[in-house]
Amino acid sequence: MTGISTAALRAAVPDAVRTIARTLRDAGFRSWAVGGCVRDELLAELFPERGAPTKNDWDLATDARPEQVQKLFRRVIPTGIQHGTVTVLLRGQGYEVTTLRGETTYSDGRRPDDVFFVSDLAADLERRDFTVNAIAYDVLADELHDPFHGIDDLRRRLLRAVGDPARRFAEDGLRVLRGARLAATLDMDLEEATRAAIAPSLDSYRQVSAERIRDEWYKAFKARQPSRAFEIMRDEGLLAVTAPELLRLRDLVEAGLDVDALTLSFRTMDLLPADPALRFAGLCHGLGADHAPDGAPGAAPAEDAQGGVGAAAASRARALAARLRLSNADRDRVVTIVRHHRLPPCVDGGDPELRRWLREVTPQRVEDVLAVQGARLRAAQQDAALERWAAFRDRVRAQLEEAPPLTARDLAVTGRDLMDVVGLPPGPVLGRTLDALVGVVLDDPSANTRETLLEHARRLTSD
Ligand code: ATP
Ligand code: MG
Repeated sequence: MTGISTAALRAAVPDAVRTIARTLRDAGFRSWAVGGCVRDELLAELFPERGAPTKNDWDLATDARPEQVQKLFRRVIPTGIQHGTVTVLLRGQGYEVTTLRGETTYSDGRRPDDVFFVSDLAADLERRDFTVNAIAYDVLADELHDPFHGIDDLRRRLLRAVGDPARRFAEDGLRVLRGARLAATLDMDLEEATRAAIAPSLDSYRQVSAERIRDEWYKAFKARQPSRAFEIMRDEGLLAVTAPELLRLRDLVEAGLDVDALTLSFRTMDLLPADPALRFAGLCHGLGADHAPDGAPGAAPAEDAQGGVGAAAASRARALAARLRLSNADRDRVVTIVRHHRLPPCVDGGDPELRRWLREVTPQRVEDVLAVQGARLRAAQQDAALERWAAFRDRVRAQLEEAPPLTARDLAVTGRDLMDVVGLPPGPVLGRTLDALVGVVLDDPSANTRETLLEHARRLTSD
């Protein structure tokens, strides 16, 4: 019927899922695996070169009511029981079991006004977003149900809305974003009518919460080429709603480059490893491009530490990260990377300058910063700057190997020593002396011995 072998799907079904299906069957109910798990296995079957599917949750749909599901299993969490979902815990894993639902009205473009349960699988599949997500697999009968020809769409690599795309997108604004994200994670194209329905549905997209947008962005960042998602967002108006500051980069071309700053950001992001915060930083690094000096495509101007392209980009990236509710840890990581995305002046300086730069970037963030610098220069095809970057990277790593003292905490003396031995009073003088000693060891790490530093402290405070 569907013209596809179920062998791989059959082999992929976890035992626990079969056990759940059998328990439901023995109690007189039916169930199907449905959604991402079925889709991803079939896609891997059709395109083995994509490799094994990344882990997706095995979700089951059933004609049993949530209360009935709850009674059949020993360990059950009522995850979203009002929407019909309970999580069955089996051998330490959770499996979502959701009662078949029909579609109701959406007055807010976000959540159905109320949920009603149905016993008909077709009605449940009809309310799903894309045809490739509306394929059900009866794991006991080894039978696929594909009323909207999702398998044909998987073959053609087309994302097509189930039913009338304009209506479906108006109902739930998250769907357009899922469409963009899935195009990237599945390496698929949006079918023409589906794409055409996005722009007229932006009013419902505007209702989507920042947390949900962040979650979809993070999923997109895990794609082989996240730019596929962001190109759709750029072209169909989602980016204008969520991140107008990024969209503006489309109209900026820095001196010495032949692509606009948004395209450069997309390429940089794609070249980075699939680590969401790192790719977020790659995406936002260009936010200060309007502050870039003319004719210096590779390096930042010497005054950048105080202002300029890195600082402007960092403060805008911070605002965007806060708006999209990134965790504090991710936000801080993004901000540091973005601030230092250009080759610093110390590329051409000596080791003391390099250590001062290291102190500012912090050893913990150095590899992130180097990764984005390198990806950006590769994206911009700045071959000469890329060579300087590679030499800089090697010097930075060599410095790190030596674990040089960078902060007051790394000094061979403490504030206590300065009070007890040198006789400094607590307060600003003590602080300034410690800072001066940090300066001494940044210039010359071999000065970081108790004797030498105490000597310096005495000399500093005697005049
Ligand atoms: P992934 O797990 O890779 O994020 P997925 O498609 O499995 O992708 P889930 O959020 O796990 O996404 O959703 C499971 C299924 O529920 C989907 O495949 C789809 O059938 C349906 N679904 C999810 N979100 C929506 C939505 N906003 N509108 C309609 N159907 C949806
Ligand atoms: Mg899923």
